[in-house]
Amino acid sequence: MKARYTYRIYPNRLQQNKLAQVFGCVRVVYNDALATVKATPKGEKWPSNAELQKRVITQAKQTSAREWLSSVSVVPLQQSVQDLGFAFKHWFAALKGNGRERFPRFKKRSNAQSARFTQRGFSLSNGKLILAKMGAFKVRWSRELPSAPSSVTIVKNTAGQYHASFVVEVEQKSVEPMRPSIGIDLGIKVFAFPSVGKPIKAPDYSQLDRKVRRLQKRMARQQKGSNRREATRLKLAKLQLKIRNIRKNFLHTQSTKLVRENQTVSLEDLNVSGMVKNRKLSRAISQQGWREFRTMLESKAAQYVNRTVNIISRWEPTSQTCSGCGFRWGKLDLSVRSVLCINCGAEHDRDQNAAENINIVGAGLAHDSKRTQRARQTSLLAVPVEALSHKVEQQLSLFA
Ligand SMILES: [Zn+2]
Repeated sequence: MKARYTYRIYPNRLQQNKLAQVFGCVRVVYNDALATVKATPKGEKWPSNAELQKRVITQAKQTSAREWLSSVSVVPLQQSVQDLGFAFKHWFAALKGNGRERFPRFKKRSNAQSARFTQRGFSLSNGKLILAKMGAFKVRWSRELPSAPSSVTIVKNTAGQYHASFVVEVEQKSVEPMRPSIGIDLGIKVFAFPSVGKPIKAPDYSQLDRKVRRLQKRMARQQKGSNRREATRLKLAKLQLKIRNIRKNFLHTQSTKLVRENQTVSLEDLNVSGMVKNRKLSRAISQQGWREFRTMLESKAAQYVNRTVNIISRWEPTSQTCSGCGFRWGKLDLSVRSVLCINCGAEHDRDQNAAENINIVGAGLAHDSKRTQRARQTSLLAVPVEALSHKVEQQLSLFA
């Protein structure tokens, strides 16, 4: 099984400039390849990956407009075209109802920058990372690599930090689960309500969030292209990175715990994009990171022997049914926090009851026609590419 191991790296000035060049070339090659595909006349077959590489790399280098592509290693350029291929593949899959990937879009200079090197483009020597045409990079090895990596992606985030993300082969972890199954009711006030154990509270982001909004307002008033605006942008990026890292750290800790302790974890398929359209809710919801949480649960389940994550339909009446006797009492107003079942006489806390129902449906104990048991997906990459803080890395290494 493949996993990602990410480390902070410290390029010197010269290497930073070289990397900026590589990122620029990678972006241009990607955009050129996308433009080539888009320009294909209707009815004609799209160029193959090899054909695209020939056109936007090999042949482009011969032109005065693109001759500077020769100044960087060809490896990340080829990988960039390959990435476009993956993006199209995911989009095709989404068209068939598998996933939610949109049509590939052009890469922007203002986003996080990245470049991937395969074994032909990098090596490790004496604790340093050596990249083609750029020399040796200082790495902060926060944990040991479990095996020789097959590729490395260099990422520069919007806060200006650099990370190296290695893809390595790891063995599945074998840990005896504490219980067969658990149901999780995701919420806004409380992050998650498990069918067993205490409610899981999310970190309080409100103060940091207030600072973000203040900086956003300030930036909107500042002149585009000015030094002051750039200073604010960097401050804002660093603050947002801080919030992201706190959230990521929290989600990693919780998802690892759930997967280690339970053989089956079930949660509802929340219509997050539909909910985010409600502006009042949108900020709170995107802050919770449900989507990310689910991705983490699924990728962690793949890291362990004998673990499943079930996503049950959001149409499942988890709050309308008694988890004790199955009696259906119908819709409840959101203000109703506890219910007395008139059938069996049990009193339920609303969230606890929902979590138990999710567990019942998810674990396959109930036969519901609407059940959408999703087969476990083995995700290729265990941890998102995005840069992680050292804290998160350490957290991860505990379970590695
Ligand atoms: Zn009942």
